[in-house]
Amino acid sequence: MLSNPEIKAPLWLLAELTYRCPLQCPYCSNPLDFARSQEELTTAQWIEVFKQARAMGSVQLGFSGGEPLTRKDLPELIAAARGLGFYTNLITSGIGLTAKKLDLFAEAGLDHIQISFQASDETLNAALAGSKKAFAQKLEMAKAVKAHGYPMVLNFVLHRHNIDQIDRIIELCIELEADDVELATCQFYGWAQLNREGLLPTREQIAEAEKVVASYREKMSAAGNLTNLIFVTPDYYEERPKGCMGGWGAIFMNVTPDGKALPCHSARQLPIEFPSVLEQPLDDIWYNSFGFNRYRGYDWMPEPCRSCDEKEKDFGGCRCQAFMLTGNADNADPVCSKSAHHDKILEAREAANRCQTTIEQLQFRHQRNSELIFKTSV
Ligand code: SF4
Ligand code: SF4
Repeated sequence: MLSNPEIKAPLWLLAELTYRCPLQCPYCSNPLDFARSQEELTTAQWIEVFKQARAMGSVQLGFSGGEPLTRKDLPELIAAARGLGFYTNLITSGIGLTAKKLDLFAEAGLDHIQISFQASDETLNAALAGSKKAFAQKLEMAKAVKAHGYPMVLNFVLHRHNIDQIDRIIELCIELEADDVELATCQFYGWAQLNREGLLPTREQIAEAEKVVASYREKMSAAGNLTNLIFVTPDYYEERPKGCMGGWGAIFMNVTPDGKALPCHSARQLPIEFPSVLEQPLDDIWYNSFGFNRYRGYDWMPEPCRSCDEKEKDFGGCRCQAFMLTGNADNADPVCSKSAHHDKILEAREAANRCQTTIEQLQFRHQRNSELIFKTSV
């Protein structure tokens, strides 16, 4: 087993089991051209990835997608991961979940379930997810998850079309007895980046939502309600970038449905050839591959990051965001007000103020749109 005292082990492995998903959220973080990669690792290949990651010191394993429930072998994968000693987490839309599957997952040893909702009411949820039945199914499954004794995270991706109902979203989470609530404003990758203008809330919307969350936190703590309310604001209204993934190749590894190993779920879009777990052992990928070493440490940084006294806090921000907004992943994340490209962020804020885009005008994440995007980009 390879090791390197200067590089820690990937503590967290995210297994994107599939890009298949019955929903079509316009903010999905999957790649725009997901339709062209239909290949998926087999059960045995995934289990081999888990074994190698665990041997390197990984402790937490998230099953995500697409919708991981579309994989029929999910109980087997959970059991294998649990048997290896991973803390296991299922990240799901709840579509395709049944009480019987919950029994199977519990038997397999699944530790934790996160269910995502699109909105606090059926109509808006249907408009965003592209399914009329999704809301009722999510409600039923959230109750079933609690009935099975799981600690439950409810996740709502917030944007300009649902952030104003944040009070009703929190009420729904309280009613469903969520243990943790993640109110995360869209991160602009994949389909969310494509739809950014129609999704980014205004600064006023964010400020109002912050007030509502603060007042609920106060009320809930006075009532002895221990639900943890996490509200993640978009970095588009910050002056400094986030320290993405705790640093490049620092603690996190993502494996795509077809076996590409990535330092973050969005890195596939970068002009870097990332290795496949089918061709190279995981430890060799983590410690020695060009892709994982490309942005480790600080030597790669150009100015203004190179001589900046904040670089150890944020590592120059997000490489994917730098690439998407400036065309060069080496640049400082344009969220930073010291970046020469910060005007891109200021323009996006202005566009959010002018935006008239309706939900129907957003580009939804489905096979046809993905194929069209792929065809027009070649
Ligand atoms: S964000 Fe929506 S479309 Fe994307 S994988 Fe999750 S549920 Fe499916
Ligand atoms: S210049 Fe670079 S390192 Fe300094 S705060 Fe901005 S992004 Fe971070």
